Amino acid sequence: MEVTAASIVRVALPGPLRTLFDYRAQAPLLPGTRVQVEFGKRTLVGVVMDCVDESEHTGPLKGVLEVLDRAPVLAPPLLDLMRRVSEYYLHPLGDTVAHALPVLLRRGEPLRTAHQSTWQLSAHAPESPDDAPGTRQRQALHLLAEHPDGLTSTELAQSGISSATLRSLRSRDWIQATPRRRFEIQHTPTFTLTGEQNDAVQSILSDTASFRCHLLEGVTGSGKTEVYLQVIRNIVDAGRQVLVLIPEIGLTPQTLGRFRERFGDDVGVSHSGFTDLQRLSAWVACQRGERRILIGTRSAVFTPLPDLGLIVVDEEHDSSFKQEEGLRYCARDVAIMRAQAAGCPVILGSATPAFESLNNALRRRYRHHRMLHRATGSAAPTSRLLDIRGRHLDEGLSDELIRLIAQHLERGHQVLVFLNRRGFAPILMCHQCGWTASCARCDARFTLHREPPALICHHCDARRGIPSACPDCGGDELDALGLGTQRTEQTLSRLFPGYPVIRIDRDTMRSRKRFEHALAQVHSEAPMILLGTQMLAKGHHFPGVTLVAVVNVDAGLFSADFRGPEHMAQIVLQVAGRAGRASHPGEVVLQTHHPEHPTVAALATGDYHGFALRALEERRLARFPPHAHMAILRAEAQSLSRPMEFLNQLKQHLEPSPALEIMGPLPSPMQRKAGRHRCQLVLLSRSRPLLHQSLQRLLDAAQDHESRRQVHWSIDVDPLDTF
Ligand code: ADP
Ligand code: ZN
Ligand code: ZN
Repeated sequence: MEVTAASIVRVALPGPLRTLFDYRAQAPLLPGTRVQVEFGKRTLVGVVMDCVDESEHTGPLKGVLEVLDRAPVLAPPLLDLMRRVSEYYLHPLGDTVAHALPVLLRRGEPLRTAHQSTWQLSAHAPESPDDAPGTRQRQALHLLAEHPDGLTSTELAQSGISSATLRSLRSRDWIQATPRRRFEIQHTPTFTLTGEQNDAVQSILSDTASFRCHLLEGVTGSGKTEVYLQVIRNIVDAGRQVLVLIPEIGLTPQTLGRFRERFGDDVGVSHSGFTDLQRLSAWVACQRGERRILIGTRSAVFTPLPDLGLIVVDEEHDSSFKQEEGLRYCARDVAIMRAQAAGCPVILGSATPAFESLNNALRRRYRHHRMLHRATGSAAPTSRLLDIRGRHLDEGLSDELIRLIAQHLERGHQVLVFLNRRGFAPILMCHQCGWTASCARCDARFTLHREPPALICHHCDARRGIPSACPDCGGDELDALGLGTQRTEQTLSRLFPGYPVIRIDRDTMRSRKRFEHALAQVHSEAPMILLGTQMLAKGHHFPGVTLVAVVNVDAGLFSADFRGPEHMAQIVLQVAGRAGRASHPGEVVLQTHHPEHPTVAALATGDYHGFALRALEERRLARFPPHAHMAILRAEAQSLSRPMEFLNQLKQHLEPSPALEIMGPLPSPMQRKAGRHRCQLVLLSRSRPLLHQSLQRLLDAAQDHESRRQVHWSIDVDPLDTF
């Protein structure tokens, strides 16, 4: 059969296969166009990556079933970025490209936006939706009651509510159409920048026409956001677009408010809490240039922004920028690749930068801006260690800490108590025989929860009832050992009965609404105790808090992970930074059994930078990242022997080199998780090309390996987690 010129398309398809697939098209198609094709017995949506004259494929080619777009939905720069990401993380191109598309486009739906108005309950709606006649109407009223911000007719249709139902509800005056919300720009006075802020802004603006990476290392309250806002103003006024990446739970109404005040409707938002249609709308608006600024979490880094002129990564050290499954990318690092390709600056901001970023700044690969003072002029909190060796503790709280908490509450202030473990207690143990409740599927103990009562494995989420007697010896004295937030909540409520205790952890904050409600309560600034895990450490301002207490600062000291101290320092200093933002000076106390330990001592001074310099030196001596690049090949299966053998065989394909350090294969520190046995092969090299060559060899060998289907394996480049 004769094939006309350039009518063979090379298509990226979602899935584990690492090649493009050739199909015949009626006419040449531009890269970035979506097509529907038959693949095996399935119909898939793919993206055209290339259009060629001849296929390398020998057999007859199938034809494209349908061309889904008249114009490409992904422009060449974004396709190039996805290629680069796919190569860097050694992840299949088809699956990588799918990350650049909102869910609805991946499913083959047309480009469209939620520009339609939304429906809401009106003031005349019946008290209870069940008072409405007809199941459909009741269902519609229930849905709308659950979505006070309104739903579009498309969203309602997806839930089975027809336009006829909406019409009849409308005729009863029970629902109303609300126009799309508009955000007015408020003429709030902009601050006069502090000297430090001004230096940073001027330096960043001195060259916005080429790629440059800036590390903005500023203590909490130094006014980093104000620096972003003023730089953004300039970029937007010059007609370019800006991408702002924030951590998973960093997008508070406060943060968004600050952007909307300055930029009104120019600000688009992309967040995992949105519906698919809302995400598509934000995506389309950015692609068309209708939004000049996009604020979003991790995956927003792949949003099309044709006039991209700046990327900001706020709290760049945050681990939520790393995706820990499938395409294991780090949005901060992809942001840097993207800025480089776009020829624009990127700002990484943090009070506690990741060692990788700090190291790059110290080696002058990044421009380094330090802000050491709070912008409001309020004093930095004073920190000190509370040596609790041999002291009396009431459920983990020393007498001195209890006295301090009372003092701050009595003065009408708020207290923040930090404990990085949820649940009631991490161990349930039999006093008679020493039995402990352990998860059958993981090498881990169950955590005891009291609300609701259960034993929960924090690694695989397995749940059990709490036994009333020891399953081994029948003894009935089961002790809860150690502290979790539920237990400390109980203790604090008993010790300070006159004050509310608000617990913020993953269990109490399952819903966003609830989280926001809790934050609102805290912002009333009435005296209260705020107790929580690291959810408290992220970007929130708690102006009423004057005392921050870290119950157990030693927790991160004995971590098996080489990043343990770094992460502990980041969390502790982020939490400490919440104190005393307003006019009252803050106080930070850290309870410890190891006051002389250098890491702990450094935390007490609040000097992250100094701590980091020392810790970086230790990493250099150990030849660990950032002084070498790391990658992990993980493998898991029902038994340990098979994945170990698998990795051992793959390892034979590596070419030994003095510049390549190979560790393992070894069982993972947590060998059994969710019923699978896990092991890993770690590669370290100072040479990125050598590391990638070696990974490519492993990958090729893995794909040809006979047990590739019995072993679940994955590659993690620049891993954050070495478990
Ligand atoms: P960071 O992001 O570094 O923690 P923020 O940008 O949130 O700091 O600023 C901390 C506080 O200081 C905010 O309340 C902000 O409104 C205020 N602020 C920022 N810049 C200035 C300035 N130049 N003068 C006075 N107040 C400022
Ligand atoms: Zn027992
Ligand atoms: Zn488990």
